[in-house]
Amino acid sequence: MERNQVYNFSAGPSVMPESVLRTAQSELLNYKGSGMSVMEMSHRSPAFQEIFDETKALLKEALNVPDTHEILFLQGGATMQFSMVPLNLMYRTGSADYAVTGNFSGIAAREAEKYGTVHYACHTANCGHTVIPSQEQLHLSKDASYFYYCQNNTIYGTQWHYVPETGSVPLVCDMSSDILSRPVDVSRYGIIFAGAQKNMAPAGLTVAIVRRNLMGHALPITPMLLDYQTMIDKDSMLNTPPCWCIYMLGLQLKWLKEQGGVEEMQRRAAQRSQLLYDYLDGSRLFRASAQPSARSQMNVTFRTRNAELDAAFAQGGAQRGLKHLKGHRISGGMRASVYNAMPMEGVQALIDYMNEFEREHI
Ligand SMILES: *Cc1c(COP(=O)(O)O)cnc(C)c1O
Repeated sequence: MERNQVYNFSAGPSVMPESVLRTAQSELLNYKGSGMSVMEMSHRSPAFQEIFDETKALLKEALNVPDTHEILFLQGGATMQFSMVPLNLMYRTGSADYAVTGNFSGIAAREAEKYGTVHYACHTANCGHTVIPSQEQLHLSKDASYFYYCQNNTIYGTQWHYVPETGSVPLVCDMSSDILSRPVDVSRYGIIFAGAQKNMAPAGLTVAIVRRNLMGHALPITPMLLDYQTMIDKDSMLNTPPCWCIYMLGLQLKWLKEQGGVEEMQRRAAQRSQLLYDYLDGSRLFRASAQPSARSQMNVTFRTRNAELDAAFAQGGAQRGLKHLKGHRISGGMRASVYNAMPMEGVQALIDYMNEFEREHI
């Protein structure tokens, strides 16, 4: 089947720009006359160092990362950061504030409890994680080492549309599923991290952007690979980094720059998601799962009147090339993940299918 007959709505690993994959394909066997693949290169070689430095510079440019912050290329997924964050930042006061607005922030909070006291700034489980609290609803403690939140809840399809105000308490944010989809004022954060496989690169790379002056005080039990300061000192090469993924991130960042950067990605994300939510709000069969003020521009969650129809919809979609529309098993329903690389045509094809399905099942 031709690639362009399929639209991939997977939440992650997820769709990448076709031109990026084609460049990778053309360079796969012989990277720029080196006679070898990037996959075969020593990570200490000048050719790879160049890829590494360029990728880092492109990311710094794309997110306008200030010199106070360091970009790290790590492994272990976003999940490893659930441990790495408290191991490195709990030193300040021994406690931290966690805003739990979905599955991943809940897991992060429970992990942090191993290393200090966790205060729950909010917990939205009682409303099925369909909302994001307002600033006034957050319970903040003055003595928190940091304030932790997950900006886009990949499973429930909710997204923070403001940056929490926490005074002198550093912000730590999991941006796994919406990084590079809009501008961010990095200077406001102590740590931003993201697993690459949603909106950046293949699985296997985790990006962390950390404020240097917060580091260097990891708990004594911290494994050496989980100490941000060590990784800063070694420029992410204490051991072999995920070379291929870093190369792929570089290709995707070049694509992003050609397209107009994160501002353009934000414009497209708003357009894609608006089209879907407008359709859902007018539908007599489908309804959006998240509350309007909390709706995600990356993961649009919705459902019909029952689980059987939901399953039929996802299955029928897959048959016509609209892949991975089934929601996460813990939330049910459907989910259309519309990351940076999802073309408008994919969204339109999905809406056409929903229209058809609605007419047949109303
Ligand atoms: C996917 C995801 C995770 C988990 O990422 P891994 O890389 O699989 O560890 C964590 N947080 C968010 C917001 C995610 O979307």
